[in-house]
Amino acid sequence: MVEDASIDFLIIGAGFSGLVIGEQLAKAGWKCVVVDRRSHLGGNAYDKTDKAGVLNHQYGPHYFRSNSQRIVDHLSQFTDWHPVDYKIKSHTDDRYWSFPINLNTFEELIGKPSTTEEFERWLAEKRISIENPKNSEEVILSQVGRELYERFFEGYTIKQWKRHPRDLDPSLCARIPIRTNRDDRYLREEFQALPKDGYTAMFEQMLEASPRLELHLGVDSDEARARWKHKHLVFTGPVDEFYDRRFGPLPYRSLRFEHESFNSEQLRSRESISGKKGFWQPAMQVNYPAAEVAFTRIVEIKHATGQKTDASAIVREFPKDWTPEDEPYYPVPADDAATLYQRYAELAKVEKHTSFIGRLATYRYYNMDQVTGMALAEATKLLSHYGSPNTPLI
Ligand code: FAD
Ligand code: UDP
Repeated sequence: MVEDASIDFLIIGAGFSGLVIGEQLAKAGWKCVVVDRRSHLGGNAYDKTDKAGVLNHQYGPHYFRSNSQRIVDHLSQFTDWHPVDYKIKSHTDDRYWSFPINLNTFEELIGKPSTTEEFERWLAEKRISIENPKNSEEVILSQVGRELYERFFEGYTIKQWKRHPRDLDPSLCARIPIRTNRDDRYLREEFQALPKDGYTAMFEQMLEASPRLELHLGVDSDEARARWKHKHLVFTGPVDEFYDRRFGPLPYRSLRFEHESFNSEQLRSRESISGKKGFWQPAMQVNYPAAEVAFTRIVEIKHATGQKTDASAIVREFPKDWTPEDEPYYPVPADDAATLYQRYAELAKVEKHTSFIGRLATYRYYNMDQVTGMALAEATKLLSHYGSPNTPLI
């Protein structure tokens, strides 16, 4: 293979981590190449418009949220925002429920109006006293008791992870807020909004602003490392893959996405269910915790994007075992996985002229704002180490 020109930084993966760090390094004057083995940029946050003109998130819903003004300000250089209060529902026992659990859910359960005080008294009776919850089952039992745990969490979690909540980290189910007032937003973070024209458009702006950052799609890590002589490598793919899985594969959970589109005619028959003209279901996301339903959730992202179109589209998510042919969507939040990851992390820590960042390379259940923060921090570290292109590289 003919070797391309020498560059400064080679970045593997054109998702949030790779593009955010690439933009920073290129802005400082370094010559960077970012590659991705997929045929598009954006990693799992990639979105695109379907044939009917509906903007869809291709790899599951991506609700941007953050408590960090610094991270929001950083991304705001490349996008305007469409504010959204992310609201979802749960569907089980043949009906829709207000979810995450809040006072409305309690009223639906008891079939009459109630108050925060009454709900808190009810919870005080149901809660199982567990001082330091050690797993995802205990974290929910200690907040709401067995009845609500079994209705909303147990089946969903087993489907999603093929593991019992007892065998999963407490932080997993603790992602879901539980409230006794009427706040029914799915997320807790202060800033909740989507990039106004989508994630793909935002990433394109990052590239547009970075003449020294070159993107090559359909190129994998081995090919790229052979092709571009580089001084430093930034790896954002799976860390076990980087090391040829020498300690055995890290566990991942994968998904199969089933996309379906509807025109305005087809949506008309759904109006009694969605409660809204031009929509298929009553919320942007409906969770299906029951074991008998094979998928975990149905997402109709048009509710969140606010896109004005008569058509709509939904995506069903079917959890599946990960095989080397699948995308490793989720690191598994469990002790055995963390122990195995530590062995890879030891290797990564001493790897010369190589940085490991992002959800896959650090095997962390990180949201988009968190990987953005990680990429910015690593860029700062690298720039303080290497200086600017005018100072010689070490
Ligand atoms: P990725 O997006 O995975 O990007 C890594 C890229 O590297 C990929 O494009 C991959 O193709 C490429 N790559 C890997 N290995 C190689 C290789 N050997 N050679 C070449 N290329 C390679 N976060 C939120 O904040 N809000 C949400 O609502 C949300 N919902 C999610 C829903 C789902 C179903 C999933 C799976 C994740 C969700 N996330 C959400 C998390 C979010 O996707 C991640 O935080 C973010 O995309 C991580 O960015 P990344 O660049 O680290 O990794
Ligand atoms: N979860 C659940 N029931 C729900 C929603 C979530 O049991 O209705 C649990 C499940 O284990 C899930 C975890 O909470 O994997 C985190 O949910 P979240 O919606 O944050 O997952 P993500 O969007 O990252 O897939």
